[in-house]
Amino acid sequence: MLGLMQAQPLLISSIIQHAARHHGTGEIVSKTVEGALHRTTYSAIEPRCRRAARMLQRLGVQGGDRVATLAWNGYRHFELYYGISGMGAICHTINPRLSPADITYIINHASDVVLFLDTTFAPLIAAVAKDVRASLRAVVFMTERAHMPDIALPEGMELLCYEELMEAADDNYAWPTFHENTAAALCYTSGTTGKPKGVLYSHRSTVLHAFASNMADVIGLRSTDRVLPVVPMFHVNAWGTPYSAPMTGASLIMPGRHLDGASLTKLMNDERVTLSAGVPTVWLGLLNHLRSSGERLHTVKSFVIGGSACPQLLFEAFDKEYGIRIDHAWGMSELSPLGTYNAPKPSNIDLTGDEKMALQLTQGRSIYGVDMRIVDDEGKELPWDSKTSGHLQSKGYWVCSSYFGGTAGDALTPDGWFATGDVATISADGYMEITDRSKDVIKSGGEWISSIQLENLAMSHPDIAEAAIIAARHEKWDERPLLIVVPREGKEIDKKALLSFYEGKVAKWWIPDDVVVVKDLPHTATGKVQKLALRTQWANHLVTTAG
Ligand code: ADP
Repeated sequence: MLGLMQAQPLLISSIIQHAARHHGTGEIVSKTVEGALHRTTYSAIEPRCRRAARMLQRLGVQGGDRVATLAWNGYRHFELYYGISGMGAICHTINPRLSPADITYIINHASDVVLFLDTTFAPLIAAVAKDVRASLRAVVFMTERAHMPDIALPEGMELLCYEELMEAADDNYAWPTFHENTAAALCYTSGTTGKPKGVLYSHRSTVLHAFASNMADVIGLRSTDRVLPVVPMFHVNAWGTPYSAPMTGASLIMPGRHLDGASLTKLMNDERVTLSAGVPTVWLGLLNHLRSSGERLHTVKSFVIGGSACPQLLFEAFDKEYGIRIDHAWGMSELSPLGTYNAPKPSNIDLTGDEKMALQLTQGRSIYGVDMRIVDDEGKELPWDSKTSGHLQSKGYWVCSSYFGGTAGDALTPDGWFATGDVATISADGYMEITDRSKDVIKSGGEWISSIQLENLAMSHPDIAEAAIIAARHEKWDERPLLIVVPREGKEIDKKALLSFYEGKVAKWWIPDDVVVVKDLPHTATGKVQKLALRTQWANHLVTTAG
């Protein structure tokens, strides 16, 4: 017997309709590429989203077509999120920090028909246009006529102006209803191993992810919040904030392209931001700015930090010096991205000092909707004892089952789990701690050493600005940890003293064999330290120094 409740499909358009109807005065404030602040509200933007859908129809876009964006966080990008998905097409967000070769590859792989982009990226499209003409028939700059860049495109590819197209369209459009499993958005992983792969989100997975992120023990937005996503809308949908904020009526403050400490501080204070989300490098930049300028953040209550392990320093500095709570989260493109969130349980709410810190450094516990397990090389489930580490696998409502172009289920184990590529431990009460990505694990004499723990410790040293640990080849032990550090401005590194900093904090055999001092570390398109590049350069360091 079926239940007798309304069977409405979970569609993304329902979110913006709700926001316009019930939170009409909720704001979207955007720092534009041109520099000025643009202000609008949910009630004013919803008709613009419908107008965007009409514009897409006039451009010949049909349900299932891939429509690409190359854009910062801003209101026009928001209009396209809803316009494209809402009409049944697929919003393919492209990460501009990828190499031109990768961008060419993914536009062709996705067969994008139209590309919407900020004027910042004019040189980028000019460089790749001739290589993507097989599918791409129009390039639309998200600006007014006065700011249109003048670039040459190959024959057959139109150069268009967003505001002109919007002006020519109308908003006489009713959001269509279709199956909730329809594809809504596409995001390619940054391809640190092999070619980028497209994760294809559905309306259902996106709406459920937004619901879940709004649970009180997750990001838990409220209508009174003013959220500044530093995480870009061009990678994993800005961690879902363009959906979770309007779902609750929270205002969105869109930072555009200036993500340095000074710009963020000004925008957060001017716009009374209460919550922000981003990767650790962004917060390290912000912290440096606050410390050197003496400025304060007057309204921010919490930061959500994920994408890489959050160093201890950020917890300590923001909590103690600035009264800002840090929420540590873990996820990935394939998980939409939220998988775990670090919120207290009754058993640990009263922890203090080192014990509290040790808990905060973990990536948190499963959010309802995504289950996790750790397994050994043979796929056998491992115990949750905080010590045994294994391959982390996920399963849930917003976890991918295949990549774009694949067949549902072909990215899963035979029993339906997705291998995340991370290595982790899980505690008896369900807190997961990433120790490494599988490909970064250091195997010394057959035993695993956690590069993340060693990096965290190095980052807590007062003279270190950034640190990475890589597996360096070793004649006797196969691999040994090598510490690569960027010193803080004006600091000299005494290698011996730095290594002795590890004593008593980790097992003796975990202590790195040597230290390399560099000016800066290479980062990937999503802000993570590029271990592959470091390994290419330094993997033989111990062999050559020994010899
Ligand atoms: P990519 O496209 O590079 O895969 P993702 O944003 O999908 O980018 O990255 C996901 C990966 O980032 C995870 O598999 C994990 O290794 C790492 N990661 C994410 N959050 C954390 C965290 N809080 N701590 C440690 N690593 C994290």
